[in-house]
Amino acid sequence: MQKRLFIRTYGCQMNVYDSARMVDVMTPLGYIPAAQAEGADLVILNTCHIREKAAEKVYSELGGIRRLKRARERQGGRMVVAVAGCVAQAEGEEIRRRAPFVDIVFGPQSYHRLPDMVARALAGAGEGVFDTSFPAEPKFDYLPENLTAPGVSAFLTVQEGCDKFCTFCVVPYTRGTEYSRPTADVIAEARRLVLAGAREITLLGQNVNAYHGEAQDAGEWGLGMLIRALAEVPGLERIRYTTSHPRDVDDALIAAHRDVPQLMPFLHLPVQSGSDRVLAAMNRRHRTDDYRRTVGRLREARADLALSSDFIVGYPGESDDDFRATLDLVREIGFAQAFSFKYSPRPGTPAAVAEDQIPESIKVERLAELQALLQQQQRAFNQSCVGQIMPVLFEKPGRHPGQLVGRSPYLQAVHADASPDRIGEIVPVRIDAAAPNSLGGSIVAAVAETEERAA
Ligand code: SAM
Ligand code: SF4
Repeated sequence: MQKRLFIRTYGCQMNVYDSARMVDVMTPLGYIPAAQAEGADLVILNTCHIREKAAEKVYSELGGIRRLKRARERQGGRMVVAVAGCVAQAEGEEIRRRAPFVDIVFGPQSYHRLPDMVARALAGAGEGVFDTSFPAEPKFDYLPENLTAPGVSAFLTVQEGCDKFCTFCVVPYTRGTEYSRPTADVIAEARRLVLAGAREITLLGQNVNAYHGEAQDAGEWGLGMLIRALAEVPGLERIRYTTSHPRDVDDALIAAHRDVPQLMPFLHLPVQSGSDRVLAAMNRRHRTDDYRRTVGRLREARADLALSSDFIVGYPGESDDDFRATLDLVREIGFAQAFSFKYSPRPGTPAAVAEDQIPESIKVERLAELQALLQQQQRAFNQSCVGQIMPVLFEKPGRHPGQLVGRSPYLQAVHADASPDRIGEIVPVRIDAAAPNSLGGSIVAAVAETEERAA
């Protein structure tokens, strides 16, 4: 009998990938994806713990889920509720206390055991199933082959966990130590994704360029080598990767940017701060000069490389001069887009207990000033694209009838009039207009036809 599975995904792309794999795990048991929690047999919240706001969202969502679960029970049905991901990993006990109706709590490393956990929850008397272990067996060895249709642009996790221990960050605690999947597994998964319709693959890892996968030639490959091998997969037209650490950008990766045309000229390379004093306190293991040098080498290898970054403002002890140094670095480097956050103290991390916490009002001011500058740079970058012809990979229907939306090489959303059968194609589009977060354009063949008719 078919059962309905609803998953709500919070946070990063790695959670998006994990949610798709949870569907793959449950599909053989008759579960099909549902668009809403109401009436579902299994509801999973795949959560994010990176900032306090992200974690709190989960508890408010659980309030609504509790009502739906009770309603289902009143009708004689059953809804199994599971909390997965990093909040589950970090706050399993807290979830048990605040939301005792939750049937299953499991961390990011144990979802290959989901069928067993669901069976135990259904058989049990409501005492709850908890699995936030870091199993010795890598979950990837136990996951079925991808069953979920990946779409035109697919995610592929190649690396997980982190050994860097930046003082503000929960990832090393929630995701565990660094693990790289063997190269053969990654290539096999990429082939399957392409056969199922993917044209673009984004390689994922909390620290993706720390990738060091066991290779068939008995050695280890870094990310640069892996990208070269993936470029040989027939039909894989675009490769991206995220998130990188500045310290792990090595010569082979820079060379891949120079030599591999499928590797898109857009890189998310978080710097966090423009102050060496703050970077040292954050235990980032890179200085601003290292970042400048790395960006310089990448731009030498690929002149049109566009950059993105992450920034934290209001890290404990950040002075006004430190913050000004961040603004200066942004002006110097120039970013096509970026993410910026107020520092959020996370339980169990060293920075959370630092004495020199910055008042909220200062964080708010600094964030507003930084975001104004970053948005100005993003608008200028988008504006500089007007008049250019760009290859756009169409992904899905746009907001208006007759329109498709796709991505430029620089990851900008591009809208253009096009028929739905062009989804999955890379099409030359002349950019006519720039908005703060997207571009508009016309397919070049269509432009040529219109111009011919006008002549
Ligand atoms: N591994 C990546 C790196 O080293 O740059 C970052 C991964 S983290 C999931 C994404 C971003 O969240 C970080 O780059 C950082 O800017 C932000 N972040 C992490 N912890 C934070 C905290 N406690 N407060 C505010 N922002 C945080
Ligand atoms: Fe977190 Fe990234 Fe630092 Fe690892 S390198 S601790 S994931 S911010």
